[in-house]
Amino acid sequence: MGGGSPTMQAVLLAPGVRDRKVVSFSRAVDALKEKDAVAGLVSTIVATSSPAPRSAFHVLDLAKVVDLFRAWRRALPDVRPYYAVKCNPEPALVGALAALGAGFDCASRAEIEAVLALGVHPRHIVYANPCKPEPHLEYAAEVGVGLATYDSEEEVAKVRRCHPGCELLLRLKGPDGGEAKVDLGTKYGAHADEVVPLLLAAQRAGVAVAGVSFHVGSGASRVGVYRGAIEAARAAFDAAAALGMPPMRVLDIGGGFTAGATFDEAAAVINDALVRCFGDLPCVEVISEPGRYFAETAFTLAARVIGKRTRGAVREYWIDDGLYGSLNCIIMDHYVPRPRPLASPRPGDKTHTSTVFGPTCDSLDTVVTGYQLPEMSVGDWLIFEDMGAYTTASGSNFNGFATSEMMVYVANSS
Ligand SMILES: *Cc1c(COP(=O)(O)O)cnc(C)c1O
Repeated sequence: MGGGSPTMQAVLLAPGVRDRKVVSFSRAVDALKEKDAVAGLVSTIVATSSPAPRSAFHVLDLAKVVDLFRAWRRALPDVRPYYAVKCNPEPALVGALAALGAGFDCASRAEIEAVLALGVHPRHIVYANPCKPEPHLEYAAEVGVGLATYDSEEEVAKVRRCHPGCELLLRLKGPDGGEAKVDLGTKYGAHADEVVPLLLAAQRAGVAVAGVSFHVGSGASRVGVYRGAIEAARAAFDAAAALGMPPMRVLDIGGGFTAGATFDEAAAVINDALVRCFGDLPCVEVISEPGRYFAETAFTLAARVIGKRTRGAVREYWIDDGLYGSLNCIIMDHYVPRPRPLASPRPGDKTHTSTVFGPTCDSLDTVVTGYQLPEMSVGDWLIFEDMGAYTTASGSNFNGFATSEMMVYVANSS
């Protein structure tokens, strides 16, 4: 656990973290169970922050990030993570991960700028958007970000024009069958028969291809999918060698990881496939682009009840976050909301069939229906766990409810 370890000290001193107030929290308080520790943390913030929060906020637990990084190191010691910034660009998270030794996957000029502003060296950034606007690519050239993905001949021509010194990773389409929450293969990645033409295009243009990347889809539940992807990557390495191209040296196994048991299973498949397919190429550097893995479980949302209506037996509540805010993950990322009240239930409390609405005037902005909750009042808080992946990053300011203004409290639980 984090606590006062040298690792946590480094995280607390990291750019993006050191200028933030960090709420210390002991999970052991009142012998709380792990599940109630989150509620305890949110209660501490509500009770001790000055000014007290009056609207929805997120809490980032740095100790979780440290634990996740250690678990990564244990399971995938030879695979350096480049955190995918799009998943959650919170500077305290990015800064903490930089201090722990991660690199970064950026997909736009603004993401590169944000990461560089935290003191990250450009060589620790991979520009992993296969289709880049020219001004963004020119910016990458200017600041020295020199590794980028591609999956079309047009992109080779663009790189040659805007950033000729850039080295490329050929993005392959991941195999089907990973049962991912979000399939990326419908949009990105070279098909098997496109690999040689795309390698030749780079060769003709005089743009170096340093290696191969893929993404099996976000939140992949069938982890065997990494096996086929790594095999296909090896085939691409061999194709490049057969074309007489300089030996490739980077294998980027993308993202798709979910923390917990699924991650350990994925790691076992990956380690096995790496030995089998790349064991004879010890100089190949293996990197990855996890987003969800580091962000999802590290953040908790507290939303406030701002309105209530009683209709017979049914209770209807309005809260100040919704489907146009950080809870857009319900639509965009298949998040299943299981809110629970911050106040601990009193013995004998009845529950009521309840609806929870978001704050905007759109009826689609409904968080849960037919959901059991105890009686709540305006001003009470609801907690949503595992709210770090594709949440605040993709919320809007629709109707004047600004996701961009939601507070993020930084905590260190021990
Ligand atoms: C979104 C994305 C990631 C992160 O994916 P996760 O499933 O969150 O790990 C990594 N690489 C690329 C290219 C992406 O588009």
